[in-house]
Amino acid sequence: MTTPAPVTTFDSLSLNPSLLNNLTSLGYHQPTSIQTQSLPIILAGEDLIAQSKTGSGKTAAFGLGLLQQLDSKDFTIQGLVLCPTRELADQVAEEIRRLARQMPNVKVLTLCGGSNLAAQQSSLQQGAHIIVGTPGRIEEHLRQQTLSLSGLKTLVLDEADRMLEMGFQPAIEAILATLPTPRQTLLFSATFPDAIAQMASHVMHNPITIKVAIQH
Ligand code: ADP
Ligand code: MG
Repeated sequence: MTTPAPVTTFDSLSLNPSLLNNLTSLGYHQPTSIQTQSLPIILAGEDLIAQSKTGSGKTAAFGLGLLQQLDSKDFTIQGLVLCPTRELADQVAEEIRRLARQMPNVKVLTLCGGSNLAAQQSSLQQGAHIIVGTPGRIEEHLRQQTLSLSGLKTLVLDEADRMLEMGFQPAIEAILATLPTPRQTLLFSATFPDAIAQMASHVMHNPITIKVAIQH
């Protein structure tokens, strides 16, 4: 697979009009470096390993990918974002909701430890399209069979290095074992220790690797 070429404007991506219009209303006039490089790959459905710094706009890169492929009439979980902490999960969920503002009825649910499990279970029963959460709590819902990921299209591992540092590798592996294939896997990390490379080699399919050194 040749790597899809970078783009310099959001317009040159085949984004659906409600996503594109909304970017303007959010004040996102130009893609950041990571978005320029990663969006063509993400929107082509390829697996991606991306290394870039905090604050570079990674959330919108994978958020636009999740939303572009979403069928909001289908109340199945289609996207899963794993984050190291509740604070990050809340920020990611908020950004995805902002990006989806002009798309009708997109349900983004956060599932993190420290919140009431039963309340999360009843939210899950009402259906969701995208789940954002921490690996431990997601694994717990899978174990209790209150969460099904059998219709998942895209898995995002956000801040993968921090998740491994925090000891989430076993939970991530347990989650991965339940996910359908083929699916798209997107991995974002600031650093690339061997453990990340090893995990990527097991769970990804011909990933394209990009590295963004400079911020926009
Ligand atoms: P990262 O995950 O890489 O640390 P974030 O996704 O949290 O970075 O984005 C950092 C900030 O940049 C957020 O406030 C976000 O709203 C903003 N942002 C993202 N993309 C753009 C863009 N294309 N134009 C302007 N601001 C952007
Ligand atoms: Mg981030």
